[in-house]
Amino acid sequence: MPFSTLSRDQIQELLVEQSAKYVELQEAQLKLDLTRGKPSPEQLDLSNELLSLPGGDFKDAAGTDTRNYGGLTGLTGLREIFAEIMQVPVDQVICGDNASLALMHDTLVFSLLQGTVDSPKPWAKEDAIKFICPVPGYDRHFALCEEYGIEMLPVALNDDGPDMEAVREFVNDPAVKGMWLVPTYGNPSGSVISEAIAAELAAMETAAPDFRIMWDNAYAVHHLTEQQTKTADILGLCAASGHPNRPMIYASTSKITFAGSGIPFMGGSADNIAWFLKHLAKRTIGPDKVNQLRHLRYLQDVDGVHALMDKHRAILAPKFSKVVEILESRLGGHDVATWTDPKGGYFVSLDTSDGLASRVVKLAKDAGIAMTPAGAAFPYGDDPRDRNIRIAPSFPGMAELEQAIDGLATCVLVAAAEQALAN
Ligand code: PMP
Repeated sequence: MPFSTLSRDQIQELLVEQSAKYVELQEAQLKLDLTRGKPSPEQLDLSNELLSLPGGDFKDAAGTDTRNYGGLTGLTGLREIFAEIMQVPVDQVICGDNASLALMHDTLVFSLLQGTVDSPKPWAKEDAIKFICPVPGYDRHFALCEEYGIEMLPVALNDDGPDMEAVREFVNDPAVKGMWLVPTYGNPSGSVISEAIAAELAAMETAAPDFRIMWDNAYAVHHLTEQQTKTADILGLCAASGHPNRPMIYASTSKITFAGSGIPFMGGSADNIAWFLKHLAKRTIGPDKVNQLRHLRYLQDVDGVHALMDKHRAILAPKFSKVVEILESRLGGHDVATWTDPKGGYFVSLDTSDGLASRVVKLAKDAGIAMTPAGAAFPYGDDPRDRNIRIAPSFPGMAELEQAIDGLATCVLVAAAEQALAN
């Protein structure tokens, strides 16, 4: 029954009942962790073959001795695979060491210290730099902005992309130099940026001549259903609209092979890639090509990537279904929360009634269920409605996951009943 239709006595009764469940939860002395979207050991095991690659043959098809220095762009064979996934010509894709976050970091730092190819001066020499941040979003994007003094401007993220009215308004300000986007299966919302919104983002006029879309396609091939959602071709759309240098495109095998020892990719216009490599050449003589060769031999081609992702899906999809099933059975009909049922990616995003998220996360923590802090998916950790909770179902085993989500639902009901009685 929706809380709004319950009498005070009925809510009191529900609070007593759920509080009893909560005490049981505390007594169980759980130690469950739903904080980060980490692959489970079972998923990591899928790629153990990497550990015995590249074997004795350490030269790639071009004859490059991967053990040696050099090769700043990364191995061509591997770039070819991801060029197709990222929809970028292979010459305009590079692969790096172990983290796409590091490539995003470097993009920001090079822009701040040197300026982009379209910048009148380095960003750091401007009075203020601002980025548009669709919310809820990826906390580490926001942490990067905070670290480097880039002011963040939240805009609502809908199922098909950011609120374009708000975006169009913000880009009239020349201090707004960029925006974050996770196009296919947003973190944590699971939203997918539609072709129409991508086209608008590509075409819109911006006051800053060096406006950048940080197109972080971390979950490009991470489907949870049979449906293989195709990401909008942001590079093509931007080029067609006369803004070829606008998008900086990222992808990664962190959640394809090994999260700590995968390969990140970056793509963009020829000018942007040349710009990045010029600065990168000062930072390193070349990437870890041995790991790149390992990945190339293991994945082989785009079909190899999809075949591996099917195996991940077989492990992940039942976990996501279980989360949604438990939330539906415990919270459905009470009108105290809504949640996503994503078609891909790594998260379920739970929105409680306004003002409840911090209390729910605290209750869960006190019962041994660690959740990402409330507000983490917002710039400066500030969820103005205090309602969003990110659920990361991938890491725990099924039994633990069930306990954790059931426990979380109890916390939501306790917090909602407390709130209703306090009003
Ligand atoms: N972008 C997004 C949207 C992510 O969710 C993650 C990982 N959780 C990353 C980037 C990090 O990728 P990498 O390991 O390649 O740095």
